[in-house]
Amino acid sequence: MNILKLSSVMSLVFFSVTVNADLNFYHLDVNQSDSTLIVGPTGKSLMIDTGENGYGDEICEAVKKVGISTIDILITTHYHKDHYGGVDELANCGITIGKAYDRGHRNHLVGKQTFDNYLNAVEDDLTAVKAGDTIPFDTDVIIKVVAANGHIEGESNTPTGEENDDSVAVVISYKGFSAFYGGDLELHTENKLSSADVVMNVSVYQANHHGADNGSSSAFLDDLKPKVIIISNGDHKGHAHPRKSALRRMQDTIPAPVIFQTNKFASEGCNRCDLAGNVDDEFIADLDPDDSNGSIVVSVKDDGSFTVTVERDYGPY
Ligand SMILES: [Zn+2]
Repeated sequence: MNILKLSSVMSLVFFSVTVNADLNFYHLDVNQSDSTLIVGPTGKSLMIDTGENGYGDEICEAVKKVGISTIDILITTHYHKDHYGGVDELANCGITIGKAYDRGHRNHLVGKQTFDNYLNAVEDDLTAVKAGDTIPFDTDVIIKVVAANGHIEGESNTPTGEENDDSVAVVISYKGFSAFYGGDLELHTENKLSSADVVMNVSVYQANHHGADNGSSSAFLDDLKPKVIIISNGDHKGHAHPRKSALRRMQDTIPAPVIFQTNKFASEGCNRCDLAGNVDDEFIADLDPDDSNGSIVVSVKDDGSFTVTVERDYGPY
């Protein structure tokens, strides 16, 4: 095992086979989509988004490797299929889904196949959240909703109609550690958060919108001042994420964060490829463009210190 000390509160570990911590975040490679499994101090589990249609089985494999058979809490950031498409496959593979939270305002989606599959998987216990809400999870772990439907706390909860900007955004806090997850937020909602200084000084920031250019503004990053940024991006063509321009803003943040990617973007065969960039290979989970099986694991101890592990496979954890 190669351990590189990055700061007094964080270390980077390659190919760890055992993660021994109070609170673990598994950022799964689900290609151009999003899914993060979080396991709390008493073993309770939380999942933020369930990946694209067809990736539920891979998420299921990763969840079972962690030793989990129930997702106690599911948060769906928004209704794009790369964030909730895999939920039915996850349920069908034998993973029980407990309480589910989303942004509400679902009526216009009824009858669409991906949404109906989602509803079948979660409708037994589904709650709509708004900015300012707290989602109960595990001992000493606080999940605060900081934005939903394009609004921050104290504003109306009427959606903007821009699905990305309507994403549910949360800050997960534990003993001095904090992490921000905002789905596919873009500048409209980022600007609201940064103008009101809602989220300041986090340990980990999962990059909004897969590292797109229309997220991760300099003002937003300057509020968050993340020690670590994790980008959930695909390996081919499509949207060409992460964008070089967004990476540059992240790298220019003071103090400089350490940036990780779930996937190496293969810069070939598409007309927007030259817009995408990559961090150095040692900070990327999946270097092979022909599969999807890596993860970036953040492990938090009970003093708030944390470790980042680059897993080139789905565990063993
Ligand atoms: Zn997305």
